[in-house]
Amino acid sequence: MNLVLFGPPGAGKGTQSKTLTETRGLPQLSTGDMLRAAIEAGTPLGLAVKATMAKGELVSDETVIKIIAERYDQPDCKNGAVFDGFPRTIPQAEALDAMLAARGKKIDLVLELKVDDAVLLSRVEARIKAGGVLRSDDTPETLAHRLGVYYKNTAPLIDYYRAQGKLKTVDGMAPVESVTVQIADILDAVPA
Ligand code: AMP
Repeated sequence: MNLVLFGPPGAGKGTQSKTLTETRGLPQLSTGDMLRAAIEAGTPLGLAVKATMAKGELVSDETVIKIIAERYDQPDCKNGAVFDGFPRTIPQAEALDAMLAARGKKIDLVLELKVDDAVLLSRVEARIKAGGVLRSDDTPETLAHRLGVYYKNTAPLIDYYRAQGKLKTVDGMAPVESVTVQIADILDAVPA
């Protein structure tokens, strides 16, 4: 099964993807994690995307499409994957559909985690207060910018996937465990 976890920055996509990896054995394909790993490793890709990511802007479609295709061709994705933070633009979604079609696969479901902006902001503020290890783009200022990018470039995917009949919406403001249950119920209802 190929799933897309969709939603604004800080909605809980990463957390729920990790749970799906544990419960369904589907690898988490997070373009954000892959790009951060490239920055950490100081690769040419990492150097090329570092400033863009720090500003909360999108890296090019071409870049993320290439890294996702390379990752999807690894043997652990043979039964599918959870796409986390990808696609983020209509061209990325079209490229993903084409990439999967070329492999005889498709996106089965898109789970939209719905969370209000005010809740996303209060989550960032809580993380800062808690004083954990923070990402350089995990600040109230960058969140505001990332939300603007989300509404302009990424939110149109809701209609794209709704038109394909694949969109399921989940209340992402519920407690984490309850979000996990909502997702499990949706997946369990999919005919095998
Ligand atoms: P994330 O960890 O998914 O929140 O992504 C962190 C940052 O990585 C984003 O703000 C973008 O700069 C970049 N990024 C991650 N995924 C994508 C994508 N699919 N398209 C463009 N940029 C991305």
